[in-house]
Amino acid sequence: MTDTTPETHEPGLENLLTEDRRFPPSPEFVDQANAQRGLYAWANADRPSFWAEQARELLSWEQPFEEVLDWSKAPFARWFADGTLNAAYNAVDRHVEAGNGHRVALHFEGEGGDTRTVTYADLKREVSKAANAFTALGVGTGDRVAIYLPLIPEAVITMLACARIGAPHSVVFGGFSAEALSTRINDAEAKLVVTADGGYRRGAASALKPAVDEALTKGTPSVQHVLVVKRTGQDVAWNDEVDVWWSDVVDAASDQHTPVAVEAEHPLFILYTSGTTGKPKGIFHTTGGYLTQAAYTHRNVFDLKPETDVYWCTADVGWITGHTYVVYGPLINGATQVIYEGTPDTPHRGRWWEIIQKYKVSILYTAPTAIRTCMKWGEEIPNQFDLSSLRVLGSVGEPINPEAWMWYRRVIGGDSAPIVDTWWQTETGAIMISPLPGVTETKPGSAQVPLPGIAADVVDDEAHPVPDGGGGYLVLTEPWPSMLRGIWGDPDRYVDTYWSRFQGLYFAGDGAKKDADGDIWLLGRVDDVMNVSGHRLSTTEIESALVSHPWVAEAAVVGAADETTGQAVVAFVILRGDAGGGDQEADAVQTELRNHVAKEIGPIAKPRQILVVAELPKTRSGKIMRRLLRDVAENRQVGDATTLADSSVMDLIARGLSAPG
Ligand code: ATP
Ligand code: MG
Repeated sequence: MTDTTPETHEPGLENLLTEDRRFPPSPEFVDQANAQRGLYAWANADRPSFWAEQARELLSWEQPFEEVLDWSKAPFARWFADGTLNAAYNAVDRHVEAGNGHRVALHFEGEGGDTRTVTYADLKREVSKAANAFTALGVGTGDRVAIYLPLIPEAVITMLACARIGAPHSVVFGGFSAEALSTRINDAEAKLVVTADGGYRRGAASALKPAVDEALTKGTPSVQHVLVVKRTGQDVAWNDEVDVWWSDVVDAASDQHTPVAVEAEHPLFILYTSGTTGKPKGIFHTTGGYLTQAAYTHRNVFDLKPETDVYWCTADVGWITGHTYVVYGPLINGATQVIYEGTPDTPHRGRWWEIIQKYKVSILYTAPTAIRTCMKWGEEIPNQFDLSSLRVLGSVGEPINPEAWMWYRRVIGGDSAPIVDTWWQTETGAIMISPLPGVTETKPGSAQVPLPGIAADVVDDEAHPVPDGGGGYLVLTEPWPSMLRGIWGDPDRYVDTYWSRFQGLYFAGDGAKKDADGDIWLLGRVDDVMNVSGHRLSTTEIESALVSHPWVAEAAVVGAADETTGQAVVAFVILRGDAGGGDQEADAVQTELRNHVAKEIGPIAKPRQILVVAELPKTRSGKIMRRLLRDVAENRQVGDATTLADSSVMDLIARGLSAPG
């Protein structure tokens, strides 16, 4: 396949773990699947016309496009640039016009058990009212709107109302601090902030408006109004000059509104990356290409049948998965979906499974962190619920350890639902590498193959593709419709970050390997790669080896400075509640797990130290922040933790380490 050999080029990463389990789709699944094998050949034959065809078939255009891809100013792409369309019209109105207004768009489940059913016809009225209200508040096409809301229907309505008037939205996680919010408001120069008095988390009302008030006192000159949804009814401070209640202006507005057709390259939204490895970047996406790939991937990767499926993506709208696979992908495709406001363990640890049983959810899309947490809690919890409606399972956000994959398949998927492990990023806008559920024979732990229409490779330090069996850096070799169009206000940083590492290739920042079949395995962030006695080791493989031990639910591995080996492997593990590890002495756990890693992948990967912890530091999107653990392992002051979901976790870990015995 390639003319490079391991002898002439040093592989970027060592390849340690092997995985032989295989799961072909059932013949019944294959027969009914949306995506068939022929898609690959079709897309390979002519990538741009393949995408043009998807854009025409999946979207309704106000003015049809003639141009497909303009890559003449690479790496700044333009897709379908002479066409015009409106995202909200595509996500809402056209379904109503097609006679599907009665179809449920959102089954909303509040944390406290309150519910709302929003049909497509309801959504059209609500989005139109909000669009009229935003316009009345002075927001015009091209103005930016910051959104700081819990996961309630108004979050979806607000995003669509922005899209309806062509005002790019910038959603900021409800859990972020006033500081993080004000930086994002100012970076995007938002004119309007939409928030709520509060939302429900872990069984209690948690305030949001005070963080907006505080963000504004830090100086946010662009903000003219703060629009406040009443969710919890808690007291809020009020500034008559700026603050307006949603119930006063949106509920009173007309429900008739004509969507503004924008050019395909008009910005749809800005979203800041989660900051796992550094300062968040304001990634922006445009309209036509983004929506095309959102709809195409949602339909094919999840095998969506809009008439019969009930789809549930557990992501918050504060991260990219919530944009593409809660709002735009599913609604463009006319899906019925569940949205849930709260945490998985409120009021009990079976809440998610109860929701699946209640709504007969057939497609579930979640993150490895959630699966590992459920493994930790024990399978008797999901076993109490009827999960037989599930027919496709998805994973996103981190590499999924093979054992977590197997648990997901067996305990949640009844040993039959195909799992799609989907690799993508805020920057890619939509899924890039994933099995197709009716086509691919799946392998636990591998995202496997670029989707039809997508070109990816794994290269070494000199940008040569590694041979099958080799490891290196994941790159994307051809432009794709939903690619980021840049970093808001900073084109140089866009070029530097993604296009300067390798000439003409998009550098994803993730390590990867190709197995003997050429399938891709993600190996974690390049920034997290460890160098132990000259061997470059990935975090993922050692973590997966640890999770393959029956005592371990979750593991995080970092490289800590070491006098003899340069770096040494230090592991942090969470033990499973239903296995025997918790009864053992710390020393016995450490010895057992170190030997297990040596046996699974070899002595070079044996951790110098294994620390049992109760929690790991994670971002709000569930990613482990290894750089903070590295600070702990090297006895340094812990670095910037502002995007951490729960800031007390680092204290807990530090205290646990210094505790005697
Ligand atoms: P920052 O760039 O600031 O660190 P972030 O990368 O965490 O933020 P996202 O864009 O949400 O923000 O995350 C994308 C990253 O998540 C990918 O680069 C990859 O490291 C990881 N990832 C996502 N899905 C998968 C997957 N299926 N397998 C392996 N890794 C994944
Ligand atoms: Mg990133």
